[in-house]
Order: sequence, then structure tokens, then C-alpha cells
Amino acid sequence: MTDSTSTPLAPGEKPISMFSTFVHPSAPQRVAEVLASTMLSEGKQVKAFEEQLAERFGLVHPAALNSGTSALHLALEVAGVGAGDEVILSAQTFIASAITIVQTGAKPVFADIYYENGNINPADIEHRITARTKAIMAVHWGGYPCDMDEIRAIAARHGLAVIEDAAHAIGATYRGQAIGAISDYTCFSFQAIKHLTTGDGGALCALDPAKAREVFRRRWFGIDRANSPVSETGERVYDLTDVGYKYHLSDYAATLGLANLNGFEERMAHRRQLVAQYQQGLANVPGLKHFEHQSDRESANWLFGFHVENRPAFMRHLKAHGIASSVVHDGIDRNTLFGGKRMDLVQQRRFDETQVHVPLHDDLTAEQVDYIIRTIKQGW
Ligand SMILES: *Cc1c(COP(=O)(O)O)cnc(C)c1O
Repeated sequence: MTDSTSTPLAPGEKPISMFSTFVHPSAPQRVAEVLASTMLSEGKQVKAFEEQLAERFGLVHPAALNSGTSALHLALEVAGVGAGDEVILSAQTFIASAITIVQTGAKPVFADIYYENGNINPADIEHRITARTKAIMAVHWGGYPCDMDEIRAIAARHGLAVIEDAAHAIGATYRGQAIGAISDYTCFSFQAIKHLTTGDGGALCALDPAKAREVFRRRWFGIDRANSPVSETGERVYDLTDVGYKYHLSDYAATLGLANLNGFEERMAHRRQLVAQYQQGLANVPGLKHFEHQSDRESANWLFGFHVENRPAFMRHLKAHGIASSVVHDGIDRNTLFGGKRMDLVQQRRFDETQVHVPLHDDLTAEQVDYIIRTIKQGW
């Protein structure tokens, strides 16, 4: 319990959280219907969800999976990344980006980021490419798209695959193109606190139709479900030719996703408004430096972050006023599994010291953002 007599609280007297989990009011009824049907595994609802992802966001060949991590792992596998290979990525991400590289037997190689926005800096990629490099993984930090044209040009010069970790970036666009329609592989997450949730879930888009068919086959053990009829003796007719996984989404989870697509554009517009409000309200605050975003791409606004001086005091000040804040993730290279903290990632190390994110989610109101702005402007 928070002591509201000693702690000045936000409008509504409740602490303001970093994230919320959105469940559309129609979801309980819709999921209950699927449960009552007893058709729980991958079926009609998954297919309908995939159709909606393609239609509403322009995703190319989306295959619904049971997590964003599964999407990353399967993308790497289908891209042919394996033992002894290397994949270049930024360290400003969640460990899922690099752990899936390790799962294939390959090695994550970290490139530096832009201090200005947390995304991989294409200028730091090329000198890290070796004969073992197979792919570049672009992580769209907070939902703001990476420099995809520059990354694709480097990949093309060296014959590398491009895999996007778009866990934060559903609905984002880059130079007029949808994220999910640009690179060889794009991976989305529908985990509980992401903008669009199925509880847990994800999607993998492969541009090449043959690779997309491989994704659909290998998400379910490596069996081509559509073309493996059940024989007279009751067994599916198939011949397993390569390793697959049990990565498909289930129908009741897809139904939550379908319900949550209701009003999704409106909720994204709400996020955009809140971000504009933050940017306006926090212009020219001493000790606060905004991230720099270009106008040729639109962020999905999963996070709202910036750099602050004296971050511990900043976060304590917000906490004392009932407002959550978070770094969300520090550079993941520091993990022993990934080789330990790298001092050649100069901008990453600077970013680790000063970045912070303030609440941005579907339940957040303009009044709350106003209160957060006023609290920050008091100084820390
Ligand atoms: C959430 C997230 C993932 C993993 O997604 P899951 O659906 O939780 O497996 C991968 N990368 C990033 C950057 C994420 O934030």
C-alpha cells in the first residue's frame, strides 16, 4: 500500500505504472466461445489472426507463433544461421535477440548504437563483418525503425540476411513501407506488455514465398500441415526432412489477439498524442536531452525515453511522486554468455548511463502525462 498522506500521488491517487496489459472488453466472451468449441490448438482463429495482420499492418506472409523469441529463433534457422556463424546486432535490446543466436550455435557480435536513439549505427557494422557473418539483426528500439536502407545496402554488399527484431514495432513504418514488409525476416512479439498482445505470442514474416512456406512448415515440427492428409490408418502422411519446432500459436491466444485488434488504430493514435504532449511539455528542460527521431519513419511508440543527467535522482524524484520510470534494458553484451561488457561500444556505454523511459501505455491519460511533465519540471 502507498501512504497517500506522505506521498503526493498522481491524478486518481494510484501510482502510474510503466506498462499496462490491454485486454479488449469483447475478449472474455470471444475466448470463452473458442474454449467451449474445444478447438484450442492452431486452426481457424490463427488463420484469421494472420489474415488481419496482413490486412491491417501490411505484414508480408505473417506466420503466427507462440512468442517473439520463437520468431527470432525460427528466422535465424530459416536464414541458415548455424554453428560457427556470426550475427551482428546492437546490444540495446532484450536478451531474446542474442540468446536465439546462441541457440543456433552462432555467436552474437555487437555493433554500436546511436546515442541519440538506441538503434544500431550502420557505420559500425561493416568492419565487424567476417567470413563467418551470416546476418544482421536490426532491433527497433522502443518501436523507432532502424536505418533500414543503409543496413540493407551493407547486407547486399556482403550477401547477408537481414532479420528485424520488431518486437516493439508493430504498426511502425519506414519511408512509407510497413515494418514487416521490408527485410528478409521480421519478428514481432505479442507478449503481455507489448502493444498488441495474445498473452504470449509472436509472428514471423519472411518476404520470399519459399522461405515463408518453410517458416509455416518448421513452426510445426517440419510437417507441411496443409499437404499432409490423414491416411486411412489414421496417421498423417509426411516425410520429415529437416528439424522443426512446436512454435505455432493456439486458437484461444489468436482469439485474444483478434479481439485486441478492435480499436488498435485509435490506441496507437492515443499513444502518438501522448508522445507529442511529452515532447512539447518537456521541451527545454535543463538536464534532459530528447532522443532524436527522423521524419522519414514513424515509430510504433512502444516506449517514450530520453537522456537525463543524474538519473538516480531523477528516478527517485518520480517514484516519490508515484510515477514509475525504467531503463527497460541495459546493453545486453554485459552478460557472460554473450562475452561480457565491451568497452569498444562507446555510445552504448554512454546510453547505459543516461537513458530512461517514462510511462507510455494504453491506459495512460493526458491528465497523467500532464502530471508527469509537471513533476519532471520541478527538477530533481
Ligand atoms: C519482448 C521482446 C522480445 C521477445 O518477445 P517474447 O514474445 O517475449 O518472446 C524480443 N526482443 C525484444 C526487443 C523484446 O522486447
